Amino acid sequence: MEEVIIRNKRFKLIISELQLQFRIQSIAEQINQDYEDKFPLIIGVLNGAAIFTSDLIRNLTVNPELAFFKVSSYGNNMFSEGVEELELGDKIDLKDRHVILVEDIIDTGETSNFLRKYVKDKEPASVKMVSLLFKPDSFLCGKKPEYIGFDIPPIFVVGYGMDFAQEGRGLKGVYQLNESPSSSLI
Ligand code: 5GP
Ligand code: MG
Repeated sequence: MEEVIIRNKRFKLIISELQLQFRIQSIAEQINQDYEDKFPLIIGVLNGAAIFTSDLIRNLTVNPELAFFKVSSYGNNMFSEGVEELELGDKIDLKDRHVILVEDIIDTGETSNFLRKYVKDKEPASVKMVSLLFKPDSFLCGKKPEYIGFDIPPIFVVGYGMDFAQEGRGLKGVYQLNESPSSSLI
């Protein structure tokens, strides 16, 4: 599908399923090398990174432990609102663990900055971050992710786990809004 319509808005394909899978394989290879003799703790950031996290771990040869953080931001509009809530799925002890945070997309960096600080406070052995997408032109704060799938312009995207007002997460590719974003849905 080159184009989809979600809530009366047109989105066009910018990263295909094949491109995503190819890139994920090469990120997984890097992680396999970097964590060869370790037992990393992969923490996927819900909801957006659920699909990326599951594809990523299936390409790993290192044996990771898997956990999820639940973070809410964005509400129902297209601009970042920062972190509103954080829930740790399991009460896992992060002390002395090699933590890899998995994000779908980093925009201003506010969410990832918050998550890194949260994890660092728990005295892990190391913290790295992987983000499928990174918007360098909107990035404002914190450290760049150590592993990046694709740099994209400051556009609003959906698909492959990412939503537009809770729709579009199941799309196999990444799609960009075809018109200029407005601050709210209606
Ligand atoms: P940040 O805190 O870096 O500004 O925003 C990060 C979070 O906002 C991401 O984890 C993601 O959930 C959401 N986000 C940022 N950009 C987009 C986008 O273009 N599309 C969608 N669907 N979510 C986005
Ligand atoms: Mg996210």
